[in-house]
Amino acid sequence: GKPVTDETVILDAAPALKARLLANENPFGPSPAAKKAIQETLDTSYQYAFMQLSTLSGKIAAYEGINQSNIMLNSGSSALLLAAAIHYSKGGKSIITGDPSYDDLPTSALRNGGKWVKVPLTKDYKLDLDAMEAKVDDNTGLVYICNPNNPTGTVVDTDKLKAFCERVSKKTMVFVDEAYIDYLPDPQATTLIGGVKAGQNIIVARTFSKLYGFAGLRCGYIVAQPDTIHALSIYTGGAFNLSATTIAAAIAGYRETDFLQDALKKTIASREFLYATLKKEGYEYIPSSANFVMFPLKMDGAKFVGEMMKRGVGIRNWKLNGADWCRVSIGRMDEMEAFADAFKQLS
Ligand code: PLP
Repeated sequence: GKPVTDETVILDAAPALKARLLANENPFGPSPAAKKAIQETLDTSYQYAFMQLSTLSGKIAAYEGINQSNIMLNSGSSALLLAAAIHYSKGGKSIITGDPSYDDLPTSALRNGGKWVKVPLTKDYKLDLDAMEAKVDDNTGLVYICNPNNPTGTVVDTDKLKAFCERVSKKTMVFVDEAYIDYLPDPQATTLIGGVKAGQNIIVARTFSKLYGFAGLRCGYIVAQPDTIHALSIYTGGAFNLSATTIAAAIAGYRETDFLQDALKKTIASREFLYATLKKEGYEYIPSSANFVMFPLKMDGAKFVGEMMKRGVGIRNWKLNGADWCRVSIGRMDEMEAFADAFKQLS
């Protein structure tokens, strides 16, 4: 099991919260069709879901215009981040990431004996691609690009990232984590899957946990060259760790446009409400392209999290450039109102 950390304690308290805004989940999902598919699958859930797994990867391949041999599914993208962390940090190799960025992959690399090279964000809180490229050397195992970036919610320029991947993938593996890409106006125009199609040495990670609302159902995948997938597959136990129910839900929910658009609309409405709340209380924030928003605090971060928790609101704190910041995940409107009520008492 995971060691007990402050974070574990916060998550354990989460069921009692009025507003659960701490793990970038999407309370507008999963869709009715996905839930119905789960129920309908129960009777045949004694069977291994070989065929269904292939149906799901076939749907993804068709939509993205790639081959099924370019896709590896698993129970959430975390397992695939872990596989990449183990493989590419082997022998003390280093992982280059933004700072702050999603730290799961580099943290696993450290535990595997690898190194972590942290590159500060630009002054507008974006990944500094030039600075990251400049850090690539003979000991680099992988460059981790989280776009949109968690926890800042910023995106890098698409053309710039495409050019970056083309150049840097000639020297080292580039991992593009697109967990939040479904929140962008045009994911198809922003994804780096085209780089895989062009034969580049990159890995693109996707998940159903965010806009699809599947965080507890667990379904994610990577898109990469077949030899990369082969190399990583030995760490993941294959795709048999996806349940038949989850696979059925993912097949039913994949590219379910009306539902996804509706979830996106509700997320944007809640995000606008949060922006207005912060403005009214005299706070700044980083405009976000995802389902979370980061803003600078005027008190100690841990104290703020504790005080909000006492008021039934779960959020998280971060250090950015040595200062205390808060990250609020976007929830239902009633949750954003609960955040606003508690926040007014503290600001
Ligand atoms: N990547 C990023 C950037 C995330 O923020 C998260 C979860 O919050 C994950 C990956 C892991 O998601 P999952 O394992 O649910 O697919």
